[in-house]
Amino acid sequence: MQRLTGYIKSFSFWDLLGGLRITGVYFWKKKITIQYPDESTPTSPRFRGLHALRRYPNGEERCIACKLCEAVCPALAITIDSEPRADGTRRTTQYDIDLFKCIYCGFCEEACPVDSIVLTNMGDYHIAERGENIMTKEKLLAIGDQYEAQIAKDREAEEKYR
Ligand code: SF4
Ligand code: SF4
Repeated sequence: MQRLTGYIKSFSFWDLLGGLRITGVYFWKKKITIQYPDESTPTSPRFRGLHALRRYPNGEERCIACKLCEAVCPALAITIDSEPRADGTRRTTQYDIDLFKCIYCGFCEEACPVDSIVLTNMGDYHIAERGENIMTKEKLLAIGDQYEAQIAKDREAEEKYR
């Protein structure tokens, strides 16, 4: 009986019809496929992507070289050096993050007392050359400058989760 059923199914293209039925059902359903990279899926304001260093609206760096982020980083991915300025304030002379070491835990962002180091919602970046994994202070500040509006919006929304 089982063999007969198998013959009938194979001659009537049963499996093919079953596949076409699934295709037909999904043909009319709302599509969830997006046209990446022209489109992207929404991200949470707490998404932990590429890092950035922020500035105050007057252009001054927020970072005061307290090194709390360096101390809290479990992956030892942050390297900071600093020196006092002529006006007595302290600023970093070196601020490097090694993306190969970083585990995107967000502890640096949590530890920062002045909202300087943040993790942006950028998750689609790549490293093509040796050494590009080191995010220098200049690179981090440039990302902060470019995405400040989005960073500020995300941080404002994030406050609601705290
Ligand atoms: S996200 Fe975590 S691992 Fe990466 S630099 Fe910050 S503290 Fe270190
Ligand atoms: S980024 Fe924040 S936590 Fe890190 S050294 Fe600068 S002020 Fe301190």
